[in-house]
Amino acid sequence: MKNNLKVQFFGAASTVTGSKYLVEYSGNKLLIDCGLFQGLKELRLLNWQSLPFDVSSLDGVVLSHGHLDHVGYLPLLVKQGFKGTIFATEPTIEIARLILLDSAKIQEEDAERANRFGYSKHSPAKPLYTTAEAEAVFPLFQSEPLDKWIRVSDAFTFRFRYNGHILGATFIELKAAGKLMVFSGDIGRQEDPLLFPTHRPESADILFIESTYGGRLHPSNPEVQLSTIIREAASKHGTIIVPVFAVERAQLLMFYLWKLKQEGLIPDLPVYMDSPMGKSVLQIFSKYHPWHKLAPRELKAILREIKVVSKQQETLQLAANETPKIILAASGMATGGRVLTYFEHYLGQKSATILMVGYQGEGTRGRALLEGTREIKMRGKYWTVNATCTQVEGLSAHADQNELIQWAGGLDKKPEKIFIVHGEPEGALALKDKLKEVYDYDSIIPELNSVYELTE
Ligand SMILES: [Zn+2]
Repeated sequence: MKNNLKVQFFGAASTVTGSKYLVEYSGNKLLIDCGLFQGLKELRLLNWQSLPFDVSSLDGVVLSHGHLDHVGYLPLLVKQGFKGTIFATEPTIEIARLILLDSAKIQEEDAERANRFGYSKHSPAKPLYTTAEAEAVFPLFQSEPLDKWIRVSDAFTFRFRYNGHILGATFIELKAAGKLMVFSGDIGRQEDPLLFPTHRPESADILFIESTYGGRLHPSNPEVQLSTIIREAASKHGTIIVPVFAVERAQLLMFYLWKLKQEGLIPDLPVYMDSPMGKSVLQIFSKYHPWHKLAPRELKAILREIKVVSKQQETLQLAANETPKIILAASGMATGGRVLTYFEHYLGQKSATILMVGYQGEGTRGRALLEGTREIKMRGKYWTVNATCTQVEGLSAHADQNELIQWAGGLDKKPEKIFIVHGEPEGALALKDKLKEVYDYDSIIPELNSVYELTE
């Protein structure tokens, strides 16, 4: 029925990445988030496909936050003919710009390297999108404040609410066809050293809730765990490599490393951030003080502490320099990016430590290393793993099961429908069971591309 309210899941359905939800009502269409798939190859291949509808007919796009798996498909949407408005908060727009440029650059560099060494199956290897294609997105951004209702078209009105996952992150309340739809985005922590606790929705007719850690509880003392790992790693006189998304735990990690050094709890190893973007994000923090907890003097001190590597040549030099050090480099799941150059040098060394700090998706090198693989494939070759591979839990930017349940606990009545999204089957199923057990809520775990009618 044309006049019914419908939703279709073009990503983050039975998986974590690729968030894209199409809401349709009475011929009007709105896209919530526009993310890239990461991880499993069968998912990544979907990034190369066009969306199966005329994207120029969209009323607009609304972004929950600036992470790649929520914004990374935008250049392709524009390439396919989208010319409308992309709504987001001001910090989200700044972060999205950095992320899109970085994503384009990584793809250009990877394609260039594959062509140089001839290891791509495609010849020539092409980037998914170029820097120019990423830049074509920017004129379409429109910033909106928190808590204010914004009218997109006759069919859709929405507002952003603070949810503390990264700087600028929100959940989205959308009114359409007389229904209140709530899209959780990625839900942050109740206690985070950098961000305030997430707000909670007071009501929802239709709820979309993320489930990245739907089946897990975060340990409460990541700082202690981090200092122990760093001390052990340093005692082997080796280098510590931390695959990290420039905008996920990079800033939190910079903060902790600075703090632990101040307190004398870890040795005074030099810390490098191999991505100008990681530092740029801290500079965005200094522009948006009401969004976070860091004092200006703390920000300045952290910025002084971290050495930034920006040119590829510097990466090669730093990788070849065997002095013990801590290197933060993207990407966070080691699916690509500069961290692979450090892996080439250090994976084979017994004295080196690879430290994972964020979520490691299915099919990623980060996950394989944590699961104890002794050999990984990178850039067309196999590499032996002798380094210690370990993880600090609890540094996550995502709510754990308890926090997700708390977040959903402020609703004034039972939602008509609940969709559990943005989780691998295990996390999604665990959250589904918990929502039933605690609140007697029934929920649906949608499949990729599935469509649901939301009104009779
Ligand atoms: Zn996120």
